[in-house]
Amino acid sequence: MSHLLNRAISRAAFRLGSAVLQSKQCLEAKYKLQVAASSGHYFKYQRHGFASSQHVQSGSGLSVNQTRLWETIHHTAQWGATPEGGVRRLALTDLDKSVREWFVAEAKKYGCAVKIDQMGNIFAIRRGRNDDIPPIGIGSHLDTQPAGGRYDGILGVQAGLEILKVLEETDTETHAPLAVINWTNEEGARFTTGMLSSAVWAGNATLQEAYDHVDSEGLTLKGELERIGFLGDVEASFDKNPLSAHFEYHIEQGPFLEDEEKSIGVVTGVQGMTWLMVDVVGRSQHCGTTPIDRRSDALLAASQMVSRVNEIAWENGGVTTVGVFRSSPQSPGTIPEEATFSVDIEHPSNETMDRMTISVRESIEAIAKKHGCKIKIEQTWRSAAVAFDEECIGAVRDAAILHAGKDGFRELPAGAGHDSVNTSYKCPTSMVFIPSKNGISHHPSEYSTPEHW
Ligand SMILES: [Zn+2]
Repeated sequence: MSHLLNRAISRAAFRLGSAVLQSKQCLEAKYKLQVAASSGHYFKYQRHGFASSQHVQSGSGLSVNQTRLWETIHHTAQWGATPEGGVRRLALTDLDKSVREWFVAEAKKYGCAVKIDQMGNIFAIRRGRNDDIPPIGIGSHLDTQPAGGRYDGILGVQAGLEILKVLEETDTETHAPLAVINWTNEEGARFTTGMLSSAVWAGNATLQEAYDHVDSEGLTLKGELERIGFLGDVEASFDKNPLSAHFEYHIEQGPFLEDEEKSIGVVTGVQGMTWLMVDVVGRSQHCGTTPIDRRSDALLAASQMVSRVNEIAWENGGVTTVGVFRSSPQSPGTIPEEATFSVDIEHPSNETMDRMTISVRESIEAIAKKHGCKIKIEQTWRSAAVAFDEECIGAVRDAAILHAGKDGFRELPAGAGHDSVNTSYKCPTSMVFIPSKNGISHHPSEYSTPEHW
């Protein structure tokens, strides 16, 4: 499937190249406008001057080396391999340092220049015919969850490297330079904000906010970058280190492709996510002497809220999850006085997600009232849904049709966050998915077949 990504990239490079050749001044003007306008947070880029989609190349004719890709992925799994067959490689640990050093050495072996920015993001850049154009990025992440698998993120970086190797071996020139990128701390498992370093690059988080993150042992992100030798001096910003486009190749992490026997997912965007923390306060009393009709049982109220939160997902075609639940005072003989829980609300449409959030709030308020409880609801996070770039989606779709036939793929939004969410604020972006066995990820049993790769 990195063959597919290869084709999508070559099409994008071709389109970008065509645009430059046909209308270089126009592109430069639009690009300057984009750079000038991109200083504010959450700026949505203007469409580039890509050539229209009738300029479709019939594929690069190149193919990646499947055996080498397989061997490389399992070779690098040594850094963090677990007895269960997965990988535990938390960001900026010694294991992460080892795989990073391997990545840099490998990229240099194949003629790439390597840039490391202030967040430790690594850009392995292969020159193009027009080096004044920012590179087309192929990015993902080499860090994992604590009980992670061998493919989440890793496949995207390794496949990018494999593409560069094939281009180098076949002496192939591309219009634009290409950059294979390892984004730092995508998982947010050690420093607990996911997609953190691409957020800094995109201006969606500040460098200081990122540097202030500490892990569970009190070690700072900046200190750990320094310690493992990956605190680079390139400014972590789109303005100073831009990309023309960003493609990310990733396992689906969900069941749809496998269920529908599709081999490729053309990713149209990423769904929005909202997190709430809910605190319910009732009255703790003796549970034998307090009649059943004279109670303010915080846990009982909260458990009805949890059930209602689930119904709201069914009613709106989204997903909701209560992942944290605590009650006090934790005594079998006392009516619970307080219950606290988290709510995760996700939907591909921001409008529906916000409507679901209102519905969750109203339901919680109504249930609390019925039980005579007080509530506090705090929204702790909201990540808006993003739609990927039509031209990039088109490049992936064209390549998918060529590769798997018109019935061999489906379009779908990503259910999980990815670095591509952040890049999509700054440059045309899309993603390629392949099926995940049983829809499982963030687990050692995560698997996708080499044929799908
Ligand atoms: Zn990932």
